[in-house]
Amino acid sequence: MAKMQQNFNSAGVGLFLSLFGGRQSLALPHIAVPDIRHVDWEGLRAAGFRGLVFDKDNTLSEPFALHVEPRLQSSLSRCMAAFEGRAVLYSNSAGLKQYDPDGKEAEQLEAALGIPVLRHTEKKPSGGSAELEAHFGCPASDLIMVGDRYLTDIAFGNRHGMLTVHVQPLTSKGEPLGVLLVGRL
Ligand SMILES: [Mg+2]
Repeated sequence: MAKMQQNFNSAGVGLFLSLFGGRQSLALPHIAVPDIRHVDWEGLRAAGFRGLVFDKDNTLSEPFALHVEPRLQSSLSRCMAAFEGRAVLYSNSAGLKQYDPDGKEAEQLEAALGIPVLRHTEKKPSGGSAELEAHFGCPASDLIMVGDRYLTDIAFGNRHGMLTVHVQPLTSKGEPLGVLLVGRL
């Protein structure tokens, strides 16, 4: 049941409707790649970006997996080195007050992936950038949002003026039908 609730993202659905009211550009990433191995992280750091905000599921690991996808591990290490470790996971489950009120899941993930999980109160694409700006100590426009979903990760990043990087989902296993359909659009 919790999983079903997690799949229903009313803010996302609302945004989806508003997209067709003329805000389609919010769902367009600045950079689109097959996965994080195809991004020049050192170049982005040199261009002045100061921190990385990662979605977890299907971006760094398979949904519900507590380890980084093995084929992405060395690229993630390089990217963490380029940004001197300034990265967080911004998940719509772990660290989200509504689903993870005592931060248990967030702690588990932090231990397993070695990346801090941002505690926050609203689901992407809703929510402000205050928690992120406080964490990184810089404006959101100096941050890079990396994720596999156009209507949550990319729309969230674009709403806050971040550089947005879209990756292809690692797997379509366990994704709700609506998400699969939007991916095709
Ligand atoms: Mg995802």
